[in-house]
Amino acid sequence: MTEFTTARLIQMFNAIARAIEADKDRLSALDGAIGDADHGVTMDMGFAAVTQALAGLDPVTTEPTQVFNTAAKSFLNAVGASSGPLYATAFMRAGAAVKGRASLDRDAMVAATAAMAQGIQDRGKAEPGEKTMVDAWLPAAEALQAAAVEGQSLQACLRAAAKAAEQGAEATKAMLASKGRASRLGERVLGHMDPGAASAVVILDAMAASATA
Ligand code: ADP
Ligand code: MG
Ligand code: MG
Repeated sequence: MTEFTTARLIQMFNAIARAIEADKDRLSALDGAIGDADHGVTMDMGFAAVTQALAGLDPVTTEPTQVFNTAAKSFLNAVGASSGPLYATAFMRAGAAVKGRASLDRDAMVAATAAMAQGIQDRGKAEPGEKTMVDAWLPAAEALQAAAVEGQSLQACLRAAAKAAEQGAEATKAMLASKGRASRLGERVLGHMDPGAASAVVILDAMAASATA
């Protein structure tokens, strides 16, 4: 598969929602160790709302940008936690990156995914190394763009991104937190993976799997 049509993009969001739901308890448990134990619940609520909102769109007459914008709005409305505005900004930026396109080829999808990472960083103002989802999203965006420059397929690009995110999430175990709730815990966060970085891996894995189908 070389292109994400609107219908496939909606399927991709639905696949993310299913993957997050399946990992909900693990994500909340990670948040329980260094936060307020709700990350799985909030992400699940957010993506369930996205699925519901996207079901109301007509894939034939809707452009990919509108899919991202609808996802942003419904995620923001459903999620009161810090991840709400972070992913809402991510999806808005992705939509802006592909404005006017009828479907998304490899380069458009790479641009959209990289824009998500940039949006999360711009919105939350976290730098790499602060033990947040940025530590998964930024290496993912770098690996994604590097794979695209090498001429790899969209599927391979997204797989590279997911792998880099996984390594980035793993690396958060050794980081102290200076953003979000975990920043209050000092050295007690050492050894624990950041829940937002963990859910970023789930999202990117589901995106990569959607590109193979
Ligand atoms: P809350 O902390 O409000 O309960 P969640 O549990 O849904 O929100 O999300 C927590 C995750 O949000 C953290 O694990 C971290 O990855 C991410 N996060 C928090 N603050 C920021 C920020 N400023 N920039 C990027 N990510 C952040
Ligand atoms: Mg939380
Ligand atoms: Mg919370």
